[in-house]
Amino acid sequence: MSGVSTLRRNPVARCLAFPGYQTGTVLAAAGIPKILRHLTMLAYKARMTTDMTNQSTFRPSDQKWRIILPRRHWETACRGLLLPIPGSPEHEIAAVGKLRPWKDRNRCEFLVSDVGIERLPDFQMAHPYTRWIVIRCGEDLRLEETWQRLRPRPSQVVAVVLLDPRRMESCQVELFQDGSVQPMGGLDIIGSGMYSLQPVEGSPAESAVDVTNDDNNRYSRLVGALGARVTRQLQSATVTIVGLGRNGSVMASNFAALGVAHLRLIDNDILLPHNLDAMPGLSADSVGKLKTLAVAERLRAFRPNILISQIERTTQDSLEILQRRSDLLVTCVDNDAARFAVSQVAVGRNMVHLDVATDLVEQGNATRLIGDIRLIVPGDGCVCCIGGVDDQSQALYEYSAPVGAMSRGQRRTWNEQRRGSLVTLNGMIVNTAIQHWLDLLGGSLRTSVWTKLSWPSGQSPHFDTVEWIDGEGCRFCRP
Ligand SMILES: [Zn+2]
Repeated sequence: MSGVSTLRRNPVARCLAFPGYQTGTVLAAAGIPKILRHLTMLAYKARMTTDMTNQSTFRPSDQKWRIILPRRHWETACRGLLLPIPGSPEHEIAAVGKLRPWKDRNRCEFLVSDVGIERLPDFQMAHPYTRWIVIRCGEDLRLEETWQRLRPRPSQVVAVVLLDPRRMESCQVELFQDGSVQPMGGLDIIGSGMYSLQPVEGSPAESAVDVTNDDNNRYSRLVGALGARVTRQLQSATVTIVGLGRNGSVMASNFAALGVAHLRLIDNDILLPHNLDAMPGLSADSVGKLKTLAVAERLRAFRPNILISQIERTTQDSLEILQRRSDLLVTCVDNDAARFAVSQVAVGRNMVHLDVATDLVEQGNATRLIGDIRLIVPGDGCVCCIGGVDDQSQALYEYSAPVGAMSRGQRRTWNEQRRGSLVTLNGMIVNTAIQHWLDLLGGSLRTSVWTKLSWPSGQSPHFDTVEWIDGEGCRFCRP
């Protein structure tokens, strides 16, 4: 347990597990000439290319602190505040939790991992160096009166959110920090609906994107299908995709088609001829380029206003990039260590994680087509506790292995691991996975979900929902 704790605290160990860090070994196994391996190693140099000319499509946040709250905890707070503790007057209770600060060049966030319903605290009696969130709900609540009741000490950080049941789309929110009260940017609820509560006096974030005035009505059909609110969310969304193979490249194409504002593409593999059959739109001219570059070039031609960040190396820098706020973190990898590592980022940063995997296995004379889609909302678990990592011991070994470490066990070639790949299966699974996320944005999908396709060739395909295992006590995702 202590070893695992060390891993969780050690950002250098954590950054080593992403796809491609053993690319040199893989290419050697595939018989790729030494010079190409050398070039691949040069590509290890951390590099992020951002299309600065497209910055106008990216909505920079203000530097006010925002609260990031998983929907599970939001619902706990709302239920508790509307059902007072027996014996306590309604105005005496609050939802109280701890805050974890996060700051990068674009955002200042307070992450909330849990809340409980209790009597309104008096912070003069509380630990002097703790950060708190206090949520109250009632008509005509006032911030001044709340601060007088809470009496925070100068060394404490306290965020107060006041809800009015008559107007739940906004809130009064202020932050006590460094001994004084300051305004906050609002509150983001991560989960079904992906709602944002703006300060009462603030302007709604949605007004930043006008879906009625898009590229010559390019999205009129999309607005018709999803509605204006979800379309606005898509067109201000950032999606990070780890792994640009057969599933990841189709995923990137369809997110671009849906109008997602910003794609972060993470992979350091080079495009080889056998990749072309499942990466529509790429030609033989792209062979030899980094996959991120080849896909980005095609998507920019398809949609010039898209912002694409290419991350070709997984270093401490790219770990920092991965941890920047994304509306969705996607893994399309065949590596459990990478799946686990991204899951840890999603848990730590309260981000939604979409994990996609496909496989073909021989079954007598037939072929079984298999696909797994795991959409994990913060607070509901991680890939480990729901059963998304086959060999946890191996994943943890790779997760912690230093650069250049020997692989454990025999490395198998692709055709020892699976029979082959089918672009038809890739399309089915990727598009179903994206639809899950659209349903989550729209609010019709209320919870995390694991959808499985296991389909013997010659029969009709059907999807099953795998029972969700509550990760209570999980050492990787529960506080
Ligand atoms: Zn877990």
